[in-house]
Amino acid sequence: LNRRLAEFGTTIFAEMSALAVRTGAINLGQGFPDTDGPEEVREAAVRALRDGRGNQYPPGPGVPELRTAVAAHQHRRYGLSYDPDTEVLVTAGATEAIAASLLALLEPGDEVVALEPYYDSYAACVAMAGGTRVPVTLRPHEGAFRLDLDELRGAVTDRTRLLLLNTPHNPTGTVLTRAELTAIAELAVERDLLVVTDEVYEHLVFDEAEHVPLASFPGMRERTVTIGSAGKTFSFTGWKVGWITAAPALITAVRSAKQYLTYVSAGPFQYAVAEALALPDSYFTAYREDMRAKRDLLAAGLEEAGFGVYRPAGTYFVTTDIRPLGEEDGVAFCRALPERAGVVAVPNAVFYDHREAGAPFVRFAFCKRITVLEEAVGRLKALG
Ligand code: PMP
Ligand code: GLN
Repeated sequence: LNRRLAEFGTTIFAEMSALAVRTGAINLGQGFPDTDGPEEVREAAVRALRDGRGNQYPPGPGVPELRTAVAAHQHRRYGLSYDPDTEVLVTAGATEAIAASLLALLEPGDEVVALEPYYDSYAACVAMAGGTRVPVTLRPHEGAFRLDLDELRGAVTDRTRLLLLNTPHNPTGTVLTRAELTAIAELAVERDLLVVTDEVYEHLVFDEAEHVPLASFPGMRERTVTIGSAGKTFSFTGWKVGWITAAPALITAVRSAKQYLTYVSAGPFQYAVAEALALPDSYFTAYREDMRAKRDLLAAGLEEAGFGVYRPAGTYFVTTDIRPLGEEDGVAFCRALPERAGVVAVPNAVFYDHREAGAPFVRFAFCKRITVLEEAVGRLKALG
């Protein structure tokens, strides 16, 4: 393993899911739903396979049906207009979208400012692209992890090429507000930065929180790469279908990288996801409501079990503080939890450069059946 990647080892998700399998514990670690997405979408995939659509290499940018559906979705939900032919690119999940964007847009030595804690592939992909990551730490404040805009402004230097954002935010559940996004957009315009914004949890926002795409702010459309994922939006994480929307020059750049990473993305699933994106609003509302109820159940249960709980405004993760339980090392806590309580969680510390800032925080996923969550809560209450 080369020096660029040596520090990254095995992804925490593989490690924790393997621990869940080995111990038989309930897996609230890795974020994948235990109920598959809509039946009619699965049927659409089967039909595509049977009809021979996508069984051979599909077009590099993605099948036209899916690119059109992505553009229509951005327009219907956010009033953003993208040309399906020049401003949409289908990727092998959001993971490839992130990798291809960074590989395409960074020069060696460029600085990337990202909100810490961050999804684990960000650091590895910045490193693979030869960039330097500059974390801006989200800090607990009045029950949520918040961005300090002055700290963000202070992190930008003459070497900063790109802001790498994620809202709704994994693992904290923070949803950036309109005011915060306005300030971020102004900063990007003023310092002439590109922005890669990971919005895979766009449909999972709760209560008063609202997801507003960064690309919709003044001056942002031409400098923003927006990332979406069928894994997160339709509960098909195994299909690995993602997409980006961006201005033509950015799409062309990211496509140049994508063509040498995977060449194209799996064909039949693209046709199915095109149909999924056209589902009526009732699908998206029901999905969000289902997750909100699960959030409420798990957040309340974790509180009763003695955890400090940061109630998420978005995503399907809840970040907790283990100090009220008399613990302080989240990594040790998560390694021991399967034996102690039969539950797997993920230590937030692995998502930080400043590990000490994340040490006492632990993430639980609630994209699981109610009965599973209830059982997990029961076990955690017995922790004592
Ligand atoms: N970004 C974030 C913030 C995520 O949580 C995930 C994990 N699902 C991804 C990207 C990767 O998405 P995909 O499974 O579509 O590759
Ligand atoms: N995004 C999911 C999570 O944060 C898992 C993705 C993965 O395993 N790479 O848990």
